[in-house]
Formats: sequence, C-alpha cells, structure tokens
Amino acid sequence: MQHASSPNRLILDGEALVHNWRAMARLSGSAAAGAAVKANGYGLGARDVVARLSGAGCKNFFVAHLAEAAEIADLVPPDQIAVLNGISEGDVVLARAIGVIPVLNSPAQIAMWKASGGGRCHVMLDTGINRLGVGPDQIDAALFDGLEIGILMSHLAFSDENHPENAAQLCLFENMSRGISASVSVQRRSLANSAGIMLGSGYHFDVTRPGISLYGGASRPELQQHIKTVVRMQSQILQIRYHKAGSMIGYNGTYICTNDSRVATCAIGYADGYRRAFSNAGSATFENVSLPVIGRVSMDLVTLDVTASANLQEGDWVDIDYSLIAASAQSGIPQYELLTGLGSRFDRSWQ
Ligand SMILES: *Cc1c(COP(=O)(O)O)cnc(C)c1O
Repeated sequence: MQHASSPNRLILDGEALVHNWRAMARLSGSAAAGAAVKANGYGLGARDVVARLSGAGCKNFFVAHLAEAAEIADLVPPDQIAVLNGISEGDVVLARAIGVIPVLNSPAQIAMWKASGGGRCHVMLDTGINRLGVGPDQIDAALFDGLEIGILMSHLAFSDENHPENAAQLCLFENMSRGISASVSVQRRSLANSAGIMLGSGYHFDVTRPGISLYGGASRPELQQHIKTVVRMQSQILQIRYHKAGSMIGYNGTYICTNDSRVATCAIGYADGYRRAFSNAGSATFENVSLPVIGRVSMDLVTLDVTASANLQEGDWVDIDYSLIAASAQSGIPQYELLTGLGSRFDRSWQ
C-alpha cells in the first residue's frame, strides 16, 4: 500500500550532524568521541544517525535499552554498541547473541554477567549522580575479578553548570578507576558527555560520550559557537480563515483577536512533540515573515496569526520556529525534551 504523506516533516541536515560530531571529537582532544544515540537518536532516527556517524569514523555508540541496541546492531560492529541501562537476567542470552556490550551498573548485574560466562563488558561507577552505577561503598576486592572491562565510566550530574561537584566527581572517578585498573583489565575510561567535554582535558580520559551537541543542542553556552543546527521543522497549512476582532481562537479562548485577523491552522500538535507550552508563545516563519502561534496548541493542530503574510495559501508549508536554544528559552522546556519528544508522525528527511 502507498504511504500516506505526512503534513509534518523534519528536515535533517546530515552534514551538520557530522560537522557537530567532528567538532566534539576535536574538542575531546586525544580522547575518541563516541555518540549517545539513545531515544531514537534523540528523536531524529537512530538508524540514520548511526549510519552517518559511523561513516564519519565514530566507533562507540551508547543506547539506553537492549531493544535500541538491537535496532542498530546490523549497521556497525555490535561490540561498538554499549547498553547504558545494563541488562536484565532475561536478556543476557540475547545480548550475547547480538554481541552488544552491556554497561554493568550494580554488583548484582556484575554477578549475573559473571554467572553467564563473564568476559567483555563495560562498567558504570556512580561518583555522585546517585542514579545508576556501582557506588564507592559497593566495591570490594573481588567484585570485578575475571571481568574484561572495555570502558570503565561514570556520569556527571552538573556538567551544564560550574559547580564544585564536577571536580569532586572527577576526583572520585580518578581514585575509584585507578584502584580497579590495578587489579583487573580496564581498556579505556570515560566520563564526559557534551557539556563535560567543555570542562577541560582533565575530564576527557579515553572516550567521550556527546549526545545533545551532535543534534544541534548546546547544554553549555560555550558549545554554541561549535554547533550547527540539525533539525528544521515544517508543517502544512490545512485551512485559512478570516476572523473578526473579538473572536476567540482555540480551546478555552486563550487568545482573542484584537483586530480583524487572518488565521491559519496547521497540522502539528502536542502529540507530535510540539508542546502545549508554545501556546500563545511559539511562532512559525513563511517567506521571512514571522507568524505567531495564537491560542492553545492542541493535540494535532495549532493556529497561527498569518495576517502579515498575504501570500500564504492553504497547502503551503511553514517553518515552525524550533531553534533549540530559542525554543527552550521561550517554552521553558529543556532542549533535550524538545528533541526526544519528536513523535512518529513526522516524515524525517535527511539532506
Ligand atoms: C545521555 C547520556 C550521555 C549524553 O549526554 P549529553 O548531555 O546529551 O551529551 C552521556 N552519557 C550517559 C551515561 C548518558 O546517559
């Protein structure tokens, strides 16, 4: 059956993606830059992201779930894929069959991995985020015996801020990892995500794990100058009507036309990830004319004041303004959520 066309599309810039990865690789100094591609490549499409970054030379990919690893395992040597959330007992056999490498996060996961044959794995140390990982209080002499640790890693809780906890986590990671390396085989160490890379070479170790910066986000202001925009969002105008001054637009009439207005409705809504926070706040652009969002964003629709654009017709495509930094400031929604919330109803086309 023919695919129905979508009235919403993401235009994804493959060159900008690769540019951003190369920039993060350069900023990582002598460390190899990997790529966090969890959550469907932060909403862009994991397979397309992995194919492009692998082509550019990236050799370490980080996903959260085993199912996400399975989704991309035919694109790269599977042992280049690390499963950050670890694995459950029921998935060990499958993980070994696919050949992806789990990140073991707890003594229980380590014991399970050893019981199922041991060998090559990654290990997450918790140096202060207090989320996932082996804590300093959980390490004993025999815990890591017999493991071949590919990447010994930890994760920073405050890398997007200048906070004393960054140096504290770095120091604890140095100490814990030095102790472990003394008794078991550890190939490489890794601490920094995108923002962590900007904290300086002391944070780089052997492998870095940028995510948001690859996709055009800047989790620290210093990243902005290095990063190009990857995602453009477009939506199609379904209907245009004229409304008299005083007309109420959308659910609960949160916008009342101050003048006679030309109002367009497009086919994007919060179910696509275009969040309700853009109600009476977001905007679109057509032929360089800015078209404010008026009224509430609904599930599948949004309304724009298009009085300023006489040329705009039903069926035309407008650019939804979704520049991550500006859109995040405007909506109060973190750049991460703006990307990972992008839904499955978009056509994603790479250019
Ligand atoms: C998501 C994630 C990253 C990437 O972080 P960004 O801030 O997007 O660069 C790196 N490491 C771990 C453990 C993660 O969960």
